[in-house]
Parts: sequence; structure tokens; C-alpha cells
Amino acid sequence: MEQKVAKTLEADVVIAGSGPGGATVARELSKAGKKVIVCELGKYQKSIGKSINVPQMVANKGLTFSKEGLLVVIPETVGGASMLYCGTVFKPPAWLKDKYGIDIGEEVDELYQEIPIKPLPERLVGDGQRLLMETARGMGLDWNLLDKWIRHDNCDNCAQCSAGCKPGAKFTAREYVDEAMGNGAVLLTRSGVDKVITENGNAVGVRATGPDGQIEIRAGKVVLSAGGRGTPIILQRSGLYDAGKGFFVDPVTSVAGVHPKLNTMKSIPMAAGTHLDEDGIVMTDASAPLLFHLGLLGYSAPRGIANMPKAATKFGKTLSIMVKVRDDLGGRVNADGSFSKPLTDEVKGALNKGIVMAEEILMSTGVQRKDIYSYRILGAHPGGTVRIGNLLDTNCETSIKNCYCMDTSIIPEPWGVPPTLTIFAMGKRLAKHLLAR
Ligand SMILES: Cc1cc2nc3c(=O)[nH]c(=O)nc-3n(C[C@H](O)[C@H](O)[C@H](O)COP(=O)(O)OP(=O)(O)OC[C@H]3O[C@@H](n4cnc5c(N)ncnc54)[C@H](O)[C@@H]3O)c2cc1C
Repeated sequence: MEQKVAKTLEADVVIAGSGPGGATVARELSKAGKKVIVCELGKYQKSIGKSINVPQMVANKGLTFSKEGLLVVIPETVGGASMLYCGTVFKPPAWLKDKYGIDIGEEVDELYQEIPIKPLPERLVGDGQRLLMETARGMGLDWNLLDKWIRHDNCDNCAQCSAGCKPGAKFTAREYVDEAMGNGAVLLTRSGVDKVITENGNAVGVRATGPDGQIEIRAGKVVLSAGGRGTPIILQRSGLYDAGKGFFVDPVTSVAGVHPKLNTMKSIPMAAGTHLDEDGIVMTDASAPLLFHLGLLGYSAPRGIANMPKAATKFGKTLSIMVKVRDDLGGRVNADGSFSKPLTDEVKGALNKGIVMAEEILMSTGVQRKDIYSYRILGAHPGGTVRIGNLLDTNCETSIKNCYCMDTSIIPEPWGVPPTLTIFAMGKRLAKHLLAR
């Protein structure tokens, strides 16, 4: 039985979720004069660039596990996971255009100009990162500085990117949300969308739960941007029960080692790295705030706990390499938010290959094998839960007319690289489509 509606609102477009996808659509449509309401489950916490920001800005204080015990980070804050991301930019794969006819070249170019996106300058690249790059190149790897969504002049090199960003150097989706509000959009925080309201097969709004009870928002267009886990939950509650069937998490680990000489503090994470497309492996330098690092070692018990004293006392000499691999489309997200994500033997094989390569690189820099340890595998970013070509057409519209999706759930195939640029660009493309209609 539905609860009593405490409040009814009206808009041209209602958006569920304010991560990169939702924020972009909100910004573009509000700029064009549309009345936009954004419902966001999380709060608008201050971004202070300290480890405490992490449990504040994620669901269940960061303790979200698959049925198999895999830790997957699920954001819950205005701006979504971009508040905690490393600002590393990978361009969309060529197959998006070649196979699906989706050309977001123009939108990607726009985004490259805006901040702008470029590799870090010399002064922001740490000694450890340079050593890893030179060593990896010496071993024949194509290891280069990566494009970053960081305003160099504002960056104080605190290297806490994955715990927010106090100086605001890192570009986040929250900037687009703020801009949208400046254009007149309404942001409802602590307000989770439960389901899409339909009439004769058309979306006519959403039902949400806010701090003061149920809200009904009537709108001509509904955009679901609640993330790779959140969007399929809303769709299942709205009658599309195949949403969430099959998804990727792009499993990730970090291989760390204590270097005998180097000072590795002040290392903006993911400054440089390599993409081995055929193997589906991305490797980059990595660094996390100390408490975040120790928390992940706790998750990696029992071996991780044994390594905690070394990790804590030698933190300033720790060189780390992130190994992330392309996942397959297995598992399922359920309507109650629980999910299952078994890792296949192929995925585990790719992870093992990446881990062995990372160990070789670390040892070639002078780290001893006895001083190397790694985290247990975790899920980097859930996506592909409502795929284009499966439950969405190429404009990201569902079988419920006027109900669209825009976040990592739309990605049509196993992915394997940081997805944010693609989602921002796809958000711009969807806004153009909605305005044209
Ligand atoms: C530590 C870390 C580092 C990362 N580094 C990078 C990187 O360097 N480069 C890169 O490209 N990617 C990176 N990522 C991944 C990237 O941040 C995410 O893939 C991206 O933010 C996904 O965008 P999205 O639009 O799917 O929305 P999300 O960021 O998933 O946000 C979804 C939003 O929807 C809200 N929501 C959920 N359910 C509801 C509901 N029912 N109603 C209303 N709101 C709801 C959530 O609170 C959340 O704010 C990183 C991620 C993490 C965690």
C-alpha cells in the first residue's frame, strides 16, 4: 500500500541522482530554461579532503558487499562518486561509435576545453610516480602521464583526491549541480526516488521519499541517474524486472611496496599509467589517504592486518600500483539493493597477470619482495545494469516512454576503464536530444 503523499511538485524534468550523469543533464537543461528538479539520496557534505569524507559520502559508511563478500563503493552524496574519484580521464572506446552509432566526439571535445583536461605538470608529479613510469617504460610498457580533470593552479598537492578536495582543484559533478541551481533548478537532498509513476505506458513523474515523507513529482520527462546500482532498483520497482540482470564492477586492487629510499608523500593518485586493452588491464600509480589505506588493509584480513604495522610506519615510503581489470557482465542487482557478483576465472586470471606485472615493476625500482603486499579485490565502479541495446535504445530511453537513464548503468558492454568522461559526454548528448524533442 502506497504511503500518503506529503508534498506534490511539478517540473519539466525530474532527475533521480546527482552524480556525473544526472548533474550534467540538470545543468544543460536548466541552462536552456527548463524547470528541473533533482532528487538526491545523499546530503551536501562539505568536501574537506580528509579520510572522514569517505564514510560520510558513501552508502553504509563504505561497507557495501556483494553476496560473495566483494566490497563495492556505492556513493551517496551530492555529486555522486565524483566527490571521491581521482579525476583521471579516459576517452570513450571507439566501439561506442563503430558498433552502436553513438558519436560523442563533440561533447568530449567540449569537456576537454571546459576545465581544461590535461596531464599534471612536472611540479605535481611525485618522485615515486616518475620512478614507476621510468621503470615500467624500461620494461617495455607504454606508461605515460594520464589526462586529469584537475585545475593545476588551484591544486596544493595534498594528494587526498579520493577523500574529497578542499581547494576545489578537482572538477566534480557537484559543480554542475551548483550551476544548475544557479539556473533555477531545485535540489532535494536526502530524497531517494522509489519508483517512476506511469500512465498508459508513459512516465509522468516519480514517487520519492524525503525527510518529511513521500513526495510526488510530476514531470513530462524522467531521467534516472542513480548510479550503476541505484537505477536498476528504481526500474525494478517500476515494473522493469530485468534491470540489474548482468553488470560489471571492474575489479581492482593495489599492489604496494616499501621503497628503501624514496619519499612518496604528495602523490596525486593515478598520475600516470598504462592500458593493456587486449588483456583488459589498466595499471596506474596509486595512493590513498592513510586511514583509507589502513581501512582497505582491514578489509583484506587476515593478511592485510598482518601488514598494517608496516603500512602505517612506512606510509611515507610506500609505492603503490593500482591494477584494474575489465569485468564480464555477470551477477545481478536486486530490488532490495542486495547484489551478487561472482568473479569469473578469466577475470581472476587477468587480475593475477596485472598483480605479477605490478610486483615486477616494484621490484625493479628497488622494493624487496618481502616488503610487497596487496589489498583484497574490490569492485571499482558498478555499471552496465540497464544497458543500451538491451533495456535502452541508443537515446537511453526505456520501454516506459519518456523515462530515460543516464549514468554508468547505460554502458552497453564490459568496460574496464575509468568511465566518468563518457558519462558526462553522454549526459550532454541526452540533454541535446531532450531539448530537440
Ligand atoms: C575512490 C574512487 C575513485 C575513482 N576514480 C575515478 C577516476 O579517476 N576516473 C573516473 O573516470 N572514474 C573514477 N571513479 C568512478 C566514478 O567516480 C564513477 O564511475 C562515476 O561517478 C559514476 O557516475 P554516475 O553518473 O553513474 O553516478 P554516481 O557517481 O554513481 O552517483 C549516483 C548518485 O545517485 C544517488 N542515488 C542513488 N540512489 C538514488 C535514488 N533512489 N534516488 C535519488 N538519488 C539516488 C547517489 O546518492 C549518488 O549521488 C572512481 C570511483 C571511486 C569510488
